[in-house]
Amino acid sequence: MKAAYVFGPRDVRVVEVPKPAIQRPDDVVVKVKACGVCPFDLRIYLGLFKGKYPIPVGHEVAGIVEEVGKDVTHVSPGDVVILDAMIRCGVCRYCRRGLDNLCERKGPLPNGFAEYIRIPSRYVYKASKTIDFIELALCEPLACCVNAVEKAGELLPGDIVHIIGAGPIGLMFLKLFKFMGLRTIVSEVLEHRIRAAERCGADLVLNPKADNVEKEILGFTQGYGVDVTVLTATTKETFSLALRTTAKAGTVLLFAARYPSITVELDPNIVHFKELKIIGVEGRTTKQFYKAFRLITTRAVVLRDIVSHVLRLDEIKEAFETALAREGLKVVVTP
Ligand SMILES: [Zn+2]
Ligand SMILES: [Zn+2]
Repeated sequence: MKAAYVFGPRDVRVVEVPKPAIQRPDDVVVKVKACGVCPFDLRIYLGLFKGKYPIPVGHEVAGIVEEVGKDVTHVSPGDVVILDAMIRCGVCRYCRRGLDNLCERKGPLPNGFAEYIRIPSRYVYKASKTIDFIELALCEPLACCVNAVEKAGELLPGDIVHIIGAGPIGLMFLKLFKFMGLRTIVSEVLEHRIRAAERCGADLVLNPKADNVEKEILGFTQGYGVDVTVLTATTKETFSLALRTTAKAGTVLLFAARYPSITVELDPNIVHFKELKIIGVEGRTTKQFYKAFRLITTRAVVLRDIVSHVLRLDEIKEAFETALAREGLKVVVTP
């Protein structure tokens, strides 16, 4: 079968490898129908991930069950499924306390950009046949957004969130917060993403290149600032803006990793007097994945319109370059 690996910086190729077979009684082999391109894949592609080449890529997977081991009972061949493709040990100090997103002994990287993938059955979620595979594949990034939202603590209807960056993740946050009854401000500099945020129903869309974002936010929030700021793009400027424009007792969520990493300025007095919470968000737990699964499969959150490009597995390099260029929104690969 065909599978994509990164062989070196900016060198991703589709190669012929043996089709995975059932090895353990608990295994499921899935025919991949869609796999989203994630910033994590791009990190590997750009050579910023420490690993031995060739490195497998692709973890946002939806597909059809091809074959199951003899102990598998909850799915059978032909079922439409979503994969939570991050293997966790289940027994380390983080897994034990329910924070399996921080597992100390994660399994090998999955290879979702392939025709088939093998995975233990507990990571396989049976989905409805009525939803597009392309949309089902977005469960994993949505689960990461769920992780962030949970960390924002108690939110009341009508509370206001500021989402910095209207890329695929920013737009997912927008849809999620709208579903929760929050009011939304999005700031973004790219014109097509500004339009996407408007299309997705943001209450206020600001362009830092043209608008005084701080003034606009304080105006929109009657001087209080927002209850939550989500940084999907962290810079010195956006971090500082978040500290100034988040209300007392509000939360600043650091969603996106930065490569290379940066140093930001922090006046502890601001955090102290405003009782700000500054919280990191990394991946998603098993339960958060399940929540995202429910949001997608019940159509509570509909994500199809944030996918701008669907490319074939053979076009994997173009898919990665398209995502890097940020000319569109989410890029999804279908074998
Ligand atoms: Zn991802
Ligand atoms: Zn673990």
